[in-house]
Amino acid sequence: MKAVILRNADGTFTKAVEDVPAPDGAGGAVLNVRYSSLNYKDALALTNRAPIVRKWPMIPGIDAAGSVASNPDANVPPGALAVVTGWGLGETRLGGFGERAEVEPKWLTPLANGFSPWDAMAIGTAGLTAMLCVMAIERHGTLPADGPVLVTGASGGVGGMALMLLKRLGYQTIASTGRLTEADYLRRLGASDVVDRNELSRPGKPLQSERWAAAIDSVGSVTLANVCASTRYGGVVAACGLAQGMDLPATVAPFILRGVCLAGIDSVMAAPPLRAAAWARLDDLADRRLLREVAREISLAETFDAAEELLAGRVRGRLVVRI
Ligand code: NDP
Repeated sequence: MKAVILRNADGTFTKAVEDVPAPDGAGGAVLNVRYSSLNYKDALALTNRAPIVRKWPMIPGIDAAGSVASNPDANVPPGALAVVTGWGLGETRLGGFGERAEVEPKWLTPLANGFSPWDAMAIGTAGLTAMLCVMAIERHGTLPADGPVLVTGASGGVGGMALMLLKRLGYQTIASTGRLTEADYLRRLGASDVVDRNELSRPGKPLQSERWAAAIDSVGSVTLANVCASTRYGGVVAACGLAQGMDLPATVAPFILRGVCLAGIDSVMAAPPLRAAAWARLDDLADRRLLREVAREISLAETFDAAEELLAGRVRGRLVVRI
């Protein structure tokens, strides 16, 4: 089968599209991959800019969607459409940038309802993560009437999906972006207001004026500290990313003086029932027409340049990879 292969022999990193043996199903279920997607983590793996890949050689791609070729379990029968995201694909297990992927049966989520494999990959890990963040805000009890929700990294994959989902649920949203030229796009996705990310990316006071009832942050670092410092009394911040950095130079003031809750969000090892619930919500809430505006399709060979573009902050929305 054709696949992207990353190698690291004697410290020399290489990447290429190659013909490699297809998995035989001895290690689990096999998915005929029709589409994958290029996430932030895939971009780091494709550029070898962070230690994402733990076994070499590796097929990158943390996401895959297609039809089940074989499955020793009864959860998703052969021929059915399914999606798999995370679980170490593209890190410790051969990932989705190849024509077939072998996965644990329980990792498969059936695409039982309206989504095509293309739709599922337009959503992908980024959209699933955005949905998990929204569910954390709901679990906390923050309602649309409580005030606006801030979304950082708004022009990126997680941010764009979060804006779309929040709008469908009736929340007012504030999109924070470094690309004010994308303001019209962000408003089409659902942003009620657009702010310059410079307002949040420089060190600020431990407590600042209360601006939002909740936030979805894919940026981390100083931005996350400022996001918490400007969250209204009793609000919640769903933190899922580190586009600015992995550090968190914050004080406890927002937590102990305003009762702000910091909710950590992980999509990679999220349990199957939580994923099933999130995909069911996505099926209900994701606007198929807007997905075509958020996502653009690229080929396997185009993933190399696209990874550089994504890390340089020049990719808008999502990239669907045609296998
Ligand atoms: P994208 O690259 O699509 O989006 C990231 C966005 O962050 C950019 O588009 C940009 O938005 C903003 N950004 C980039 N660099 C900086 C910076 N230095 N300072 C402030 N903002 C910046 O990535 P994704 O949306 O796919 O992922 C976002 C983050 O979430 C990543 O760190 C990723 O690893 C993490 N993630 C975590 C998951 C989890 O399970 N916890 C799952 C998925 C992603 P703009 O131009 O609008 O400012």
